[in-house]
Amino acid sequence: MTRRIVFASRNRQKFEEMRFLFQDFPVELLFGGDFSALAVEETGDSYSANALLKARAWAEEVRLPALGDDSGLEVEALAWGPGLLSARVAPSDKERIAWLLERLGGQTTRTARFVAALACFFPEEGCFFLSRGVCTGSIAHVPQGERGFGYDPIFIPDGYEKSFGLLGEDVKARISHRARAVFHMKDMLFNRTVLE
Ligand code: IMP
Repeated sequence: MTRRIVFASRNRQKFEEMRFLFQDFPVELLFGGDFSALAVEETGDSYSANALLKARAWAEEVRLPALGDDSGLEVEALAWGPGLLSARVAPSDKERIAWLLERLGGQTTRTARFVAALACFFPEEGCFFLSRGVCTGSIAHVPQGERGFGYDPIFIPDGYEKSFGLLGEDVKARISHRARAVFHMKDMLFNRTVLE
């Protein structure tokens, strides 16, 4: 039987990425934004804590199992920031990119990584699963491309010479932080009775 799980977010772009990543899996991922305008404050001190906060809150709101996520960009030359604060440094994607490029200036060390945590919470069983994924790379000097979202135009994953903003969803679906976290989550869910 296919299990319905609500994605604990109103971010449509993230949801589409997530649905794509779960397409070969026996769960029907539903968009949180179709059910509620719930906004969960990210008060946790780690990506996993925030992912679980969101999963629990949405599961309670929608009365279904919920999948929460939290992610961030960590840049070596910025003491591995903005990290947990990645969404909060400026009001829009464009301004966040400008903020980051300005902070980095002409720095030659541009090593960075995206980190994602996922939490899948099953209210009836009272259990949850956590997973994490990392994608290493570097920060481009100028934005490249308009595909994806967030910091994609300035993130060049290791092994490639173009940004995620140019590479697009197929490459992201194979190597991104979220794809890696989903891979581990599917592995855990597949082996548990919660899907039966
Ligand atoms: P949150 O996970 O919604 O808190 O987002 C954290 C911040 O990192 C936001 O500014 C996102 O746009 C950004 N972010 C998270 N994942 C990605 C990604 O896959 N590509 C680009 N930016 C991302």
